[in-house]
Amino acid sequence: MIYQSTRDPALTASAAEAILRGPAPDGGLYVPSSLPDLRPALPKLLTLDFQGMAAAILQALLPDFTTDEMTALVRSAYTGRFETADVTPTVPVGDDYILELFRGPTSAFKDVALSILPYLMTASQQKCGVTDPVLILTATSGDTGKAAMAGFRDVPGTRIIVFYPHGGVSEVQQAQMTTQEGGNICVCAVRGNFDDAQTAVKEIFASDLPLRLSSANSINIGRLAPQVVYYFKAYADLLRLGRVKLGDPVDFAVPTGNFGDILAGYLAKRMGLPVGTLICASNRNDVLADFLRTGVYDKNRPFYKTVSPSMDILVSSNLERLLYLMSGDAALTAALMAQLRTEGRYEVPADLLARLQADFFPGRCDDEQTKAAIGDVWRAHHYLCDTHTAVAWRAAQAYKAARPGTAPVVVLSTASPYKFPAAVLEGLGGSSSGDGFDLIDRLHALTQVPVPENLRGLRDKAVLHRDVTDIADMPAYVLKKAGEKEWNA
Ligand SMILES: *Cc1c(COP(=O)(O)O)cnc(C)c1O
Repeated sequence: MIYQSTRDPALTASAAEAILRGPAPDGGLYVPSSLPDLRPALPKLLTLDFQGMAAAILQALLPDFTTDEMTALVRSAYTGRFETADVTPTVPVGDDYILELFRGPTSAFKDVALSILPYLMTASQQKCGVTDPVLILTATSGDTGKAAMAGFRDVPGTRIIVFYPHGGVSEVQQAQMTTQEGGNICVCAVRGNFDDAQTAVKEIFASDLPLRLSSANSINIGRLAPQVVYYFKAYADLLRLGRVKLGDPVDFAVPTGNFGDILAGYLAKRMGLPVGTLICASNRNDVLADFLRTGVYDKNRPFYKTVSPSMDILVSSNLERLLYLMSGDAALTAALMAQLRTEGRYEVPADLLARLQADFFPGRCDDEQTKAAIGDVWRAHHYLCDTHTAVAWRAAQAYKAARPGTAPVVVLSTASPYKFPAAVLEGLGGSSSGDGFDLIDRLHALTQVPVPENLRGLRDKAVLHRDVTDIADMPAYVLKKAGEKEWNA
């Protein structure tokens, strides 16, 4: 199995080359030429622990690496880094299940993939005989940046620059990023939103700067592949709980922004996991919900700042991979992406829309509904969820109302409630006046839910990164930083 661009199957790469590059040279995204069929392996695979499952699934998706190599990478990445040994626990909440993906070092689901991406990157450098350093450029809607820096901190042969939207992340998210230590770390706010920053980063990739660049966003297959693992893990948990028999479908509700997390669920399904419906949950930035209803993707609409800022995205990069994987048509994918670039909109053919609708169900939720869901879940089940999780929770309830009596629903929980304490407190009926750190304390006093270790000491950490740039100046900023021998000196 090789990787190829979504826009041109002749542009191929090995898994290691794809990880080193990030996006494909034509601006497309790397996808596997064929997906491994894990159905024969399921009875055994689903009895393994998280690390065993991860090694097997990642080896199948990234076949440059031997099973022994992958087992060693997985062990280094996950041992002792998460709050629970099983990395991503599944918790019953009412009739549903919450898949907790936020138990890692920075309290967001990005940790699951970004704990292992640095190991995959270093191993890929060795496999490809690359000795010059890799400069990782990352645009973040708030959580990728911190998780990527925590993962790449002081990893030899790598440097990382993170761009985040100025005023577009929560106070806690911003403090997490601007206090990050490490000699290979650079953080810069940009005057613009996530879409602006991500578009500018993609243009830098396409612009032939004399630098070896890679990405820690989910446009990198090395970021996406590890996210497939927890769908298998959740299914295994439901098997163990006796909630399903092997072969029964399970539905997943996913709070969606850049479409990476939910695409991983689709990959799991194509690899043979009995995934039923993938519920695609949007906040008020509901471009995906409209797309799944009508087949028209139209980013020409107002951009809203919401209480689930990590999903404030109007250009969902990984949708490109889905269009290609569903249509198998690189020319169509390239044409749609060209139209998106020039007109900001495209429409998929009716047969493709029908196939999308067979696998995906759209849900949307505004800020008031998000906060109400947080209060409802807390009062009914004594479970405290974050704003993004609440969006997915509500979408799951809407789905069950529309299609009653179907499979169990697993709601993916993507962040700790303590990353968004203001909106969570409001959801519980409390006051949200005061700074983010006071609000963490108040939320804890109110709920007694433990505060994650990494957020506890945040208030006292020194701010190390204060740079701000305009979107147009991002390429110059990257060149300037790349020319500096030492950072944070
Ligand atoms: C990144 C993020 C999302 C969206 O995930 P995508 O893969 O971009 O769709 C949802 N919730 C949280 C908390 C996130 O950090």
